[in-house]
Amino acid sequence: MKKLKVDKDLCISCGACVGAFPELFEFGEDDRAQAIKEEISKENLEEAMDAIEGCPTNAISYEEN
Ligand code: SF4
Repeated sequence: MKKLKVDKDLCISCGACVGAFPELFEFGEDDRAQAIKEEISKENLEEAMDAIEGCPTNAISYEEN
């Protein structure tokens, strides 16, 4: 299973991921981005990779387990 994660210590709340991929990310109550659903479907894999590459602080990652 592929899991999408945001490291809240690295997120600077720039909004890039939330703005570009609102189906994958939202802002939490702490104003840091978080994954709406941690599990990435095949259809969302490309978007997830674009979000990972687009994050200015490399806060987004995904892991497979
Ligand atoms: S792109 Fe990165 S720094 Fe910007 S809101 Fe998303 S996780 Fe945070």
